[in-house]
Amino acid sequence: MSPSMKQAHHILKATFGYDNFRHHQANIIEALIDGRDVLTLMPTGGGKSICYQLPALIRRGTAIVVSPLIALMQDQVDALQQLGVSAAFLNSTQHASEQRAVEGELRSGRLKLLYMAPERLLNPYMLDMLERCEIALFAIDEAHCVSQWGHDFRKEYQQLSMLHERFPNVPRIGLTATADARTRSEIVHQLALEQADIFVNSFDRPNIHYTITEAGSGKEALWRFLTEQHATDAGVVYCLSRKGVETTAEWLNQKGRTALPYHAGLPQAVRSRNQQRFLREEGLIIVATIAFGMGIDKPDVRFVAHMNLPKNIESYYQETGRAGRDGLPADAWMSYGLQDVINLRLFIDQSDAEEQFKRVMLQKTDAMLGLCELTGCRRQALLAYFDEIISEPCGNCDNCLNPPQTWDGTIAAQKVLSCVYRTGERFGAQYVIDILTGKENERMHANGHDQLSTFAIGQEHKATEWRGIFRQLIAHGFLVADSEGYGVLKLTPKSWPLLKRDCTQLVKLRHLRKPESKQKKQKTIISNLSEQDQMLFEALRTLRSRLAKEQNVPPYVIFPDKTLNAMAVLRPSTDEEFLDISGVGKTKLERYGEPFLTLITNEDL
Ligand code: ADP
Ligand code: ZN
Repeated sequence: MSPSMKQAHHILKATFGYDNFRHHQANIIEALIDGRDVLTLMPTGGGKSICYQLPALIRRGTAIVVSPLIALMQDQVDALQQLGVSAAFLNSTQHASEQRAVEGELRSGRLKLLYMAPERLLNPYMLDMLERCEIALFAIDEAHCVSQWGHDFRKEYQQLSMLHERFPNVPRIGLTATADARTRSEIVHQLALEQADIFVNSFDRPNIHYTITEAGSGKEALWRFLTEQHATDAGVVYCLSRKGVETTAEWLNQKGRTALPYHAGLPQAVRSRNQQRFLREEGLIIVATIAFGMGIDKPDVRFVAHMNLPKNIESYYQETGRAGRDGLPADAWMSYGLQDVINLRLFIDQSDAEEQFKRVMLQKTDAMLGLCELTGCRRQALLAYFDEIISEPCGNCDNCLNPPQTWDGTIAAQKVLSCVYRTGERFGAQYVIDILTGKENERMHANGHDQLSTFAIGQEHKATEWRGIFRQLIAHGFLVADSEGYGVLKLTPKSWPLLKRDCTQLVKLRHLRKPESKQKKQKTIISNLSEQDQMLFEALRTLRSRLAKEQNVPPYVIFPDKTLNAMAVLRPSTDEEFLDISGVGKTKLERYGEPFLTLITNEDL
């Protein structure tokens, strides 16, 4: 091992409190220390920060960290200061005098890390100042923001390639959790990282349990999920519309949970207050549109729930990835229904985008629907979408633990298609279902549809079951929802063989599933604690909350849950034993050893 890597291992333990590097961390760190550029793609929670923080401590000078998210700089800097590292940020939330003080520290060379947004870095005044300082490295976080195709696009990111020209001898690292190949090559190109060492990790998040239910009423299903599995946990609930956000948050509050809304229509001050509370208080729920999310660094988000279908698998994976960054068990839960499937299509058809763009979008929604209607392992399918093959089913998704039953729905499908055909492809799902189940109404009389041969031929299924059947027929491409007619159902080329009964292929449909049995599910490590350890864990959590409040920092920058968990089980009683706990380094021992050790040794448990 080279001397600098020896030093890196030493710092990993002494400062960060960890015994081993994860994934490619060691290689990445070595490359940067040696002055090479790096591009790293790592899933959320993979441990990206250490990849630039540790080299910053070894190389001479200050590391400049570019991040688009000024709201989170404070927490990142708090976390570093808790580790005893000299770090600061520069952004518009600071007074001019504070900014001058930080600049002074930068010039003095005392700062190891300095965070700022790209627009500030690109400012000529700042560039001049940096040219007169010693720069250890540039870390470009959320590097996928250079991509014009993604919804996180920031045009300033595209100008960051100039760092390479202006500071040719300073190594740069681009970091992202966005996986697909197109984004990757855009990053390389836009940031001039052609010479960089590229490290791609597995994107699997084994601690996340995936569930996709086709529940009728999303809210009731959500409530059951919350009460049964996350009665006191923090989590995010994603809704499609601002209105959905407002009503769901209100509803959860009425039910006795603390839920805060977040969407782009709220004043900035409200948004940042709600985000701050979510980060700093325990057990809150954020109900949000996709406006909420990028860079949410809260490690103990225990669930991410989707009340609607996301537009594509990329968004779904990114959003669900915000659960369980600390590596402890977490849930990605989604509920969707017939209307979602119809809306998704309409949304694209009605947009003003160009035809070719629409086609790509449609392919993506089809893949998303495929994932929902899948009967096999969700994780295998998700990872396969990102070109990663895992050979075995995961054993930690709804389909693995509670395999869906299928039935031969060929006849049911024929009834549906025939009914759509006979009514002239002019009606929406509800109307057609009423005909199938023989539920007469005025409109049907007026149209003479109560006289059709398909009237009341579907009484073997309830209306809710028919909705499930319609949903699957749309998802499998036997029907489309027409945009001009606002959800009018039409036949497709795939419908005809089935209608004419000259198809040999069966239509396999899924039964509505019984709720997942809870015993089967992987238990959270925390709930696996013995009763006594659990009590100590709670006491440690209370102590942590108090200390966090005193310093006005989020609790997890003091210690993550994983570390408290280890303390509750291992019950260290000396400084040496305390240092052995993963996540405890020298500075944390100095600051917190006493109160935590006192609590652990005095607790009469
Ligand atoms: P990312 O930015 O990739 O989402 P972070 O850098 O926030 O992830 O790291 C996620 C968590 O993993 C943090 O709590 C971090 O301290 C922890 N971590 C990082 N590297 C290691 C390691 N080598 N050993 C143990 N824990 C680690
Ligand atoms: Zn699985």
